[in-house]
Amino acid sequence: MRITSLFAYAFFAALSSFASLADAATEQPNILFIFADDHAYQAISAYGSNRNQTPNIDRIANQGMRFDRCVVTNSICGPSRAVILTGKYSHKNGFYDNRSVFDGTQMTFPKLLQQAGYQTAMVGKWHLRTDPTGFDFWEVLPGQGRYYSPVFRTPEGRVVKKGYVTDVTTDTALEWLENGRDQQKPFLLMLQHKAPHREWAPGPDHVADYNGETLPEPETLFDDYRNRSDAAKDATMRVGDHMRPMEDLKVWPEGAKYAERQFKLMSPEEQQAWKAAYKEENDAYMQDPPTGEAKTRWNYQRYIKDYLRCIASVDDNVGRVLDYLDEHGLADNTVVVYSSDQGFYLGEHGWYDKRWMYEESFRTPLVVRWPGVVQPGSVEKRMVSNLDFAETFLDIAGVDIPAEMQGASLEPMLRGQPVDQWRDSFYYHYYEGPPASHDVARHYGVATDRYKLIHYYDLDQWEMFDLEDDPNEMMSVFNDPTYADVRAELEQKLAELRQQFEVTSDEPEPLKK
Ligand code: CA
Repeated sequence: MRITSLFAYAFFAALSSFASLADAATEQPNILFIFADDHAYQAISAYGSNRNQTPNIDRIANQGMRFDRCVVTNSICGPSRAVILTGKYSHKNGFYDNRSVFDGTQMTFPKLLQQAGYQTAMVGKWHLRTDPTGFDFWEVLPGQGRYYSPVFRTPEGRVVKKGYVTDVTTDTALEWLENGRDQQKPFLLMLQHKAPHREWAPGPDHVADYNGETLPEPETLFDDYRNRSDAAKDATMRVGDHMRPMEDLKVWPEGAKYAERQFKLMSPEEQQAWKAAYKEENDAYMQDPPTGEAKTRWNYQRYIKDYLRCIASVDDNVGRVLDYLDEHGLADNTVVVYSSDQGFYLGEHGWYDKRWMYEESFRTPLVVRWPGVVQPGSVEKRMVSNLDFAETFLDIAGVDIPAEMQGASLEPMLRGQPVDQWRDSFYYHYYEGPPASHDVARHYGVATDRYKLIHYYDLDQWEMFDLEDDPNEMMSVFNDPTYADVRAELEQKLAELRQQFEVTSDEPEPLKK
């Protein structure tokens, strides 16, 4: 029986790869991957945001597919990027946390697309320390990059570009589409924004948005971290307590050196827009600085507005690129993807930042438009991941997926084909423990549609959540006897996943080749 079905599978696989090769020979679609840094799904109107509108990202969702539970393997900037390039978990690509250095000699999907005849380009935030490999064209921000007058690293050296980083990054990408690429070949363009990463510096067009408004607070802004592990209490990412007045909150005394340095990077018009936008609120703050709960509320309003202002520029620039595709006859043959390196806390649990396996940072937005293939306005609720992106792009291009990749192609879902066998659980592992930014304890865990089991292994403490009864993850049921069977099942799944993905250590190890 087993041999027969294996044989049938192999026969079917051979047939389907023949079919995809035939497709590829005639038509390899372009792939435009637009990627933000720290863009929470809660801040996209297609995902039901109660605080902002993102009409251009919504265009992609409305004309394509919205994935409602796209999760990440390791919720932090650099590691997520390494997972996307390699289709492998951090312990297999060697990039564990933001202190890691990416080994660019390893296999990545852009290299495979390049070998398959694609023109490849990478523009914007890279965050992997070493130079990009596998790209015909690249221009990247060093480290986190600057919001104004950004410096770009290029193969020819560094260049400074005047203006606001989200606009400038898009300008560079459009310039490559217009004049830089070989128009006879299909393209892969990775257009990766710095925004809306901390310190949430808005562009001149949107710096005054939301002035005078009070935006809704999340239900858990005043989380007291009871009924959970010590990890949540110990983290230093609370909106009320752990924000820097000048960098994060844009409250600066007259003549403050930090502010002067920022203003020097701006044009006179940009400076003027900033000073006018913040003046009234800052004057009031200086006269009577809030304390206690009022301080948390004030900080929340200030940072959420700046964060959403940054996203407004990202959304405008998504629109510019979509318009370019329309105006140049490229839209029909280009797969457009919008995603982020992870989610983000918009005050939930009293936090900003990411890192946790809790939903707000575990999930990331993913919307995909593929005219003529993806049913417009479709929604996929199954658990997909950034671990699947490389496999998906290769599959779309008709390129074989290497066996060492650990995710699965989303192409059948995009095509609306039946997918009988799909993951029912997912493994997560975060490695950047204290002492490090925000002091979030290292943890690994397993998630299913309904439950989540998390092990903070340096603390040897566990948490378990029932997302149906407790979607905000406020009450761990790890020690609740009514959940004993569920817990045993999750522990079993966790052990199986660690074996399947070959997790042999909880400490970073050198890359094995
Ligand atoms: Ca990030």
